[in-house]
Amino acid sequence: MSDHRILLLGPPGAGKGTQSTRLTDEYDLDHITTGDALRANKEMETEYGTPGEYMDAGELVPDPVVNEIVVTALEDADGFVLDGYPRNIEQAEYLSEQTDLDVVVFLDVPGEELVDRLTGRRVCDDCGATYHVRFDPPEEEGVCDECGGELVQREDDTEDTVRERLRVYRENTEPVVEHYREKGSLVEVDGEGSPDEVFDRIRDVIEG
Ligand code: ADP
Ligand code: ADP
Ligand code: ZN
Repeated sequence: MSDHRILLLGPPGAGKGTQSTRLTDEYDLDHITTGDALRANKEMETEYGTPGEYMDAGELVPDPVVNEIVVTALEDADGFVLDGYPRNIEQAEYLSEQTDLDVVVFLDVPGEELVDRLTGRRVCDDCGATYHVRFDPPEEEGVCDECGGELVQREDDTEDTVRERLRVYRENTEPVVEHYREKGSLVEVDGEGSPDEVFDRIRDVIEG
């Protein structure tokens, strides 16, 4: 395992999950993703209610719940790609108390493209592999190439919830992007083009 500590920032649908998979394979890193961890615990009772109540509405799950997920995952990781966290300034401040980062990559994709990417996203119910009905279709419609599992649409990938998630992103997470920009640690990468093209750009940043 190598010890890169990479933060991948970007709006919902920018390709963070897609690129994280490539990065963890290429550099042998842990993938730390609050979204997947929360989806696996959607019905967990917390003093704030269940994560699913927030996720299905497109709102942020309360900080104490996500901070706990991240701190536990960081304890077990040498190198990592952090994806989907921090999503507000409070989480960014908490993170800075827990670990240093080598690089912060911001995946830049325009708004209307994000809506298309998210509403066409399909994920495997069994292994979590991600597809897109137009941009990255499976060989057989509705069936995972990797494991034969069933492809489903996430409950929050419907148009109304997508628009709310983009609003929440602009309100809460854009200030996080500005925070890292001001610190001088942010590298912007053009997130348009094929996933392979985007990955080549990220690799240049990490190895440059
Ligand atoms: P995020 O984790 O940032 O929300 P995902 O990696 O899940 O984003 O990608 C969102 C959707 O867009 C998925 O359906 C994925 O297949 C598709 N996608 C990812 N990267 C690209 C790309 N470079 N061009 C077109 N579609 C993409
Ligand atoms: P996306 O593919 O849109 O980037 P994620 O899978 O990262 O989505 O997140 C899905 C949902 O999980 C979010 O809309 C939010 O409700 C919740 N979530 C994920 N990460 C966080 C976080 N760091 N803070 C608060 N809520 C989070
Ligand atoms: Zn699968």
